Amino acid sequence: MKIAVVRETRPGEHRVALVPDLVGKLTGLGYEVLVESDAGSAADIADDTYRDAGATVTDDVLAQSDVVLSVQPLEPDRIARLSSGTATVSFLPTAQSLELVGALRDAQVTAFAMELVPRISRAQSMDALSSQALVAGYRCAVVAAERLRRFFPLNMTAAGTVPPAQVVVLGAGVAGLQAIATARRLGAVVKAYDVRAAAAEEIRSMGAQAIELELETLEGTGGYAREMTEDRAARQRDLLTPYIAAADALITTAAVPGRTAPMLVTRAMVEQMRPGSVVVDLAAETGGNVEGSVAGEVVTVGGTTVWGAADVPSQMPGPASRLYAQNVVNLVTLMTHDGAFAPDFDDEIVSGCCVTAAGEVRHGPTREQLEGAVS
Ligand code: NAD
Repeated sequence: MKIAVVRETRPGEHRVALVPDLVGKLTGLGYEVLVESDAGSAADIADDTYRDAGATVTDDVLAQSDVVLSVQPLEPDRIARLSSGTATVSFLPTAQSLELVGALRDAQVTAFAMELVPRISRAQSMDALSSQALVAGYRCAVVAAERLRRFFPLNMTAAGTVPPAQVVVLGAGVAGLQAIATARRLGAVVKAYDVRAAAAEEIRSMGAQAIELELETLEGTGGYAREMTEDRAARQRDLLTPYIAAADALITTAAVPGRTAPMLVTRAMVEQMRPGSVVVDLAAETGGNVEGSVAGEVVTVGGTTVWGAADVPSQMPGPASRLYAQNVVNLVTLMTHDGAFAPDFDDEIVSGCCVTAAGEVRHGPTREQLEGAVS
């Protein structure tokens, strides 16, 4: 059976779905691995490295493949070139990609979405949301340190003592915890807040101070947060204002699945920060946690630099690709039996992340949205 790795085409996407080190895992399972020319070039991986690892590098990978791996979902013209029964494995944000899902269904493609892999312990090694959030969280802390024109760590020198930077992190999921850990390693004093009750202990375990507000916690299903009411959001903003005013750097990573990002910090709150402060808004692409942040741009609010995130894992394409590729290879391994790609739809991981198969939309919420959109 043939498994293909395509070159990503979306602007800003620099990752690749397979790295040379993992080609051997797939050939070991019995696959012939085809890599589209230049697939790894944006991640500094040369075609020859794939060849040396045992892959075939070619310009035409789609028509002849049984499984196609990518980071972003394939575009409609590429879907049209797949044979019926081909499987695709990629990120596929179904709610924002209804037309693509319809095209995959009509082309009889078996499409798997990495963001739908259930977050159960057995699937941890396939959890690409977590692996990419880890990269993003690290990068946010490094950007904050780089943009802030002062030290992160305490410096005690003969010329006097330089106090450490004060960093506040809002949202302590996978990305937020990694941002905390990185800022701590760089020597900053870190305070963090999250609406989930369990987060306070996780924040403390990273060496940061958990900000405790006189507010109810907001647990949703599956360990995620719930959306705030406007009243709670306003109270949270009021209570966080003094912490943010005292911060040299603010990193925001808050998200609620399926919703636009919660607006946690108003322009007025940013204006209270000292001149030269830095804000890094990881949620800028999904609506923004900070009023005025713009995805992919650096803007100034008062005297504060506000960095709006865009394609953050792609800013570290080597490690992001490596981790993503490992997640994908683990999922493909689960779906391979006796050298053949043969997904077992009775397995909750397989059924959980399957979007289309055999001409049907298998993911319930997407099917409802699509049928609603059609009628
Ligand atoms: P996410 O990206 O959906 O959200 C990021 C964080 O923002 C979350 O911690 C959330 O609580 C927080 N948030 C939402 N609204 C907020 C607000 N108004 N103010 C402050 N913070 C707010 O989350 P994630 O990083 O994907 O992970 C969320 C949870 O899932 C965590 O508990 C994580 O440990 C857990 N998780 C479990 C597994 C697993 O079991 N395999 C894997 C990954 C994550």
